Amino acid sequence: MSSQIKHWLILQLLLLTLLNAAYAALKESSEEGEESAGFWRRQAQEQLKERLARTRDYTTDSRRAKNVVILLGDGLSVTTMTAGRILKGQRQGRRGEDSRLAVEQFPFAGLCKTYCVDEQTPDSACTATAYLGGVKTLSGAVGQSASGEPVESLLLWAQKAGKATGVVTTTRVTDASPAGSYAHVPKRVEELEIARQLVEEEPGRNFEVILGGGLGKFRAERRDGKDLLALWREENPDGCFARNMAELRNCSNSAGKVMGIFSDNHMPYHLASHRDQPRLKDMSAAAIKKLAEKAQETGEDHGYVVFIEGGRIDHGHHETRVGYALDEMLEFDAAVETVLKMIDPKETLVVVTADHSHALSMAGYSRRGTSILGMDEQQRDLDGVPYSTLNYAIGKWQSLDKDGKRESPSKTLGPTSYTPSYIRGRKGVHSGEDVAVFAIGPQAHLFGGVMEQNLLPHLMGYAACMGDGLTCCHQDQVPG
Ligand SMILES: [Zn+2]
Repeated sequence: MSSQIKHWLILQLLLLTLLNAAYAALKESSEEGEESAGFWRRQAQEQLKERLARTRDYTTDSRRAKNVVILLGDGLSVTTMTAGRILKGQRQGRRGEDSRLAVEQFPFAGLCKTYCVDEQTPDSACTATAYLGGVKTLSGAVGQSASGEPVESLLLWAQKAGKATGVVTTTRVTDASPAGSYAHVPKRVEELEIARQLVEEEPGRNFEVILGGGLGKFRAERRDGKDLLALWREENPDGCFARNMAELRNCSNSAGKVMGIFSDNHMPYHLASHRDQPRLKDMSAAAIKKLAEKAQETGEDHGYVVFIEGGRIDHGHHETRVGYALDEMLEFDAAVETVLKMIDPKETLVVVTADHSHALSMAGYSRRGTSILGMDEQQRDLDGVPYSTLNYAIGKWQSLDKDGKRESPSKTLGPTSYTPSYIRGRKGVHSGEDVAVFAIGPQAHLFGGVMEQNLLPHLMGYAACMGDGLTCCHQDQVPG
């Protein structure tokens, strides 16, 4: 064979390999189609069918949920729950490990896979689009698919089904998680636009209850000259606006919608709050009372759907100040407890979950009753230096001496101090493992096992007969 032919053959082979690789890549992307909203909706509906078939032998629950309460702990990792539970007990003067969180009353629990279209470890925007819109998307995107199609949220489905709706958070009401219930933007930082959508567009403008922080985005920080607060008042002449706990209490006697914005930015941490700031449990109680009344007002009482977020657990973790994160976790726990006392699980589905995990670790062999915010006095590293009970994988502070060697953090460690980290970064980071989901009420059994995060609103839609997927009101559609 002449060398010319040999070269030609090698070139042909190379070209063929390249073409094959390009075709495979194209096929993969078009078959997977993760950029499109339809891909995730189809995938979730398939999972729902599978789940219905799989659980049929275990339950005969055919009840429809009239109301749905979604409680979301931002950054509420399983380690955060364990450590929070221990802190709860230790604050009562006990060893702590055997104390109980409100979610321990729930009969069903499962795990959610939190990855997004472009990230193994997700942010709060793409996850909100998943657990409120049923579609996974790009990190930072709110209420739209990776290719930019708007995604309807569970709260819009609820309004279409005649239900009263509301949003409660301890962050700015325009932050990524609450925004997932009403906004459509490619980037979560566009909070001025998110605020505009909340007041001017559907479903936000129909919310009967809006409670949280972030007044600046409605007025002072705006560059378009709009006063969104004045606009909301104009649109809702019988609406009640609250700036503090006393005003929120007064609003419960009013007939109209309620908007309570309690700070210019995020609401201060509970540990740093002023006395007239409502706690998450106060806001949750006010929201449920108002929404139940609003639902009854229509005469037909189609119920309500409310999204309640403990949003600052995540912020405590980002600061790597675990004392703040755990205190916010216990504030969230108190809100779950309050909700459970107010609802009837025969007609209300309550789902508690997290958007993503955080890189907090509880490592070593600490003895029973060891202070969860303090030192593990029993254990030593190879250099004989003790360490704290809780540490972060990555964070802004390491306990090092002037030669860069690890030293005991015991002198600086306190209830609100920085918590040591293994790897020095700018701040604490999210982590990618599954998060827990707990459910009680009609169809709660569907929330067991391991599931994609974007399945959650499809399950809630099924239970409460909302949205355009399978619902328990159309049993004939359930696979035989
Ligand atoms: Zn975060």
